[in-house]
Amino acid sequence: MKTILPGATIGILGGGQLGRMLALAAKRMGYKVLTLDPAPDSPCGQVADDQVVAQYNDIKAALEFAERCDAVTYEFENISVQCVEAIEHTKKIMRPGSDVLRVTQDRLSEKQFVRRLGIGTTEFERVVTGTDLEAAMKSLGFPAVLKTARGGYDGKGQAVVRDRAQAMDAFHKFDAKTMIWERFVPFARELSIVCARGADGKTAVYPVTENSHEQNILDTTIAPAKVSPKTAKDAAKIAEKIAKGLGIVGTFCVELFELKGGKLLVNEIAPRPHNSGHYTIDACACSQFENQLRAVCGLPLGSPEMRSPAAMVNVLGEGKGDQLTGAEKALSDENVHLHIYGKPEASARRKMGHVTALGANPEAALAAAKSARKKLAWTKK
Ligand code: AMP
Repeated sequence: MKTILPGATIGILGGGQLGRMLALAAKRMGYKVLTLDPAPDSPCGQVADDQVVAQYNDIKAALEFAERCDAVTYEFENISVQCVEAIEHTKKIMRPGSDVLRVTQDRLSEKQFVRRLGIGTTEFERVVTGTDLEAAMKSLGFPAVLKTARGGYDGKGQAVVRDRAQAMDAFHKFDAKTMIWERFVPFARELSIVCARGADGKTAVYPVTENSHEQNILDTTIAPAKVSPKTAKDAAKIAEKIAKGLGIVGTFCVELFELKGGKLLVNEIAPRPHNSGHYTIDACACSQFENQLRAVCGLPLGSPEMRSPAAMVNVLGEGKGDQLTGAEKALSDENVHLHIYGKPEASARRKMGHVTALGANPEAALAAAKSARKKLAWTKK
């Protein structure tokens, strides 16, 4: 098995905060980093050695980019499969591969894949035409969540529908080629589990975390989640099964719904490091980003073990200015860590950074993280 050693160049398709944190892990280990993103001076581009400014579907640019790298990965699942395939055809190391992307880019193929592994998902129907919509309303009923099969994130391209009028409205508004009608899951909690799988097939499974969302955007994560030992074990088994089933090399995350009674359903798979795994930078022996790097490079994975209970809260823009203030107050608690992504514009609800706090238990960590966040504010420069 070929190993990519420090000094080599890692290519990251996508230049957002996930790429930035991966690049920071790579730089620490002595790698060079090249990123590709349409926005110049992207969060990842700011810490990478160089950035190629190109669209995610520009095959020519992707090939020129890959030519300059020893191994390529992605930090964003909505990049074009064709670009990833084109890179694979050059025999360049491309991890995870296009097969993983193809399954996970489409909510229908993803759910079908998960079900084939014998893992539960919410019930769903494919919706392309108005007739499909009528059939889904009849067979699965209300309430439901109508989502575009592709391209959605942070709640974009999805709507909770409670009656026929709302369903019709969302169907016409999305105007997507393919949609999915999901039965609304009255979940007790939302959980997620991050896992890395190395080129040798070995896995590093992080503890299951509990997540809360605000307007469909992740707001807080506590780690470990307060679940029964059985639920924690079931989540780890699901992650292992999906890792093997996908044959993924890299870090990925499985978002789960926990039903009353502890049963787990898979909501979605993200084939990359995940917002709910950011706490691993400060709280685990080896972070989700370092393990992504190690997997891509064919190196042995690091331990996912937690060194302390932790909580992460996202810091969103407020649309009131682009200058963050209050860091000196937020950091007055020595167990608080501040991560800011370098985005120039703090528009309302944009993910600008996060706070991780360590604590004696997850609740104490969450209280500390929230208290630190309250001390931060956005003002005009
Ligand atoms: P997704 O983009 O699929 O991760 O959905 C974003 C959020 O919407 C989830 O984290 C849930 O809070 C909610 N959601 C999505 N699908 C469902 C569902 N079938 N039932 C209930 N809530 C859902």
